[in-house]
Amino acid sequence: MTAEIINGKTTASGIYEILAQRIKDFPSTPKLAIIMVGNDDGSVIYVRNKQKAAEKIGLKTELFHFPENASEDEIITLISRLNADSQTNGIIVQLPLPAHLTTNKIINHIMPQKDVDGFNPYNTGMLQNNEQPYFVAATPLGIMTMLKNIYSDLSGKNVVIIGASLIVGRPLATLMLNQECTVTITHIHTRNIKELTRKADILIAACGVAKLVKKDWIKDGAVLIDVGINRDNGKICGDIDADDVKEKAAFLTPVPGGVGPMTIAMLLQNTVDAYILQHQ
Ligand code: NAD
Repeated sequence: MTAEIINGKTTASGIYEILAQRIKDFPSTPKLAIIMVGNDDGSVIYVRNKQKAAEKIGLKTELFHFPENASEDEIITLISRLNADSQTNGIIVQLPLPAHLTTNKIINHIMPQKDVDGFNPYNTGMLQNNEQPYFVAATPLGIMTMLKNIYSDLSGKNVVIIGASLIVGRPLATLMLNQECTVTITHIHTRNIKELTRKADILIAACGVAKLVKKDWIKDGAVLIDVGINRDNGKICGDIDADDVKEKAAFLTPVPGGVGPMTIAMLLQNTVDAYILQHQ
């Protein structure tokens, strides 16, 4: 068996076409406010990619770039202003923030109706209750979109997630549970992790450890979703060792070109949805 590659770029371009068409029909241009603090290398690239993708579909972005030593008060004051600004439809804070800032305290100030990253406790709580949040985090949403292109029904699937972060592992586990999957979340302190991953019909690696998952971690015919973005000898790679697993897995997302492009597409889809929500 050679794994079929799930091309996130192609799926994302289809989504962009639909979004661009929807935006053309709007009476005004949707706007996403991006708040960035400091100059983390990864963040600079991610923000630039988000802005480029937005521009291509006719969605406006405004970048608020604070210096590394910015205070929580300054950022929260800006968020309050953007919450009240009728021209701003979505607000995100690019993570990670510098260590002196409390991420949740800042993010919790974004009003749920503009929280297009889906991190506000209102949105995560609604998801947890299996009710409709305003927005779901972009990376998990992108993964669900890719999985639904493979499976018409996810119920009963054995899912193992490596990584329990607020932005990927936790919301993804909830989305999967809401689809009636049997979900195991693993993390750095999980013992005998391979015993768990080897039982997964769907294995999602989101831990940020280059090529951690090898062929003896997976079962034959598994669907592998690689969220990780790492560098190995200067080359970008995922958390899954693609070369090692490709003869054993049924499906595999590549890095780059898998989950990454879908994440940006979902963020922009959320922003378009925010615009519609605010113009109802
Ligand atoms: P994080 O650091 O917030 O969380 C990492 C999680 O992985 C933690 O729960 C930790 O306990 C677990 N972990 C770490 N090492 C482990 C190990 N050896 N075994 C098992 N679990 C382990 O990370 P994050 O923000 O969720 O990001 C994870 C990875 O995904 C990173 O490489 C990041 O760059 C990438 N990422 C990609 C996208 C995308 O769009 N493709 C989006 C978000 C994050």
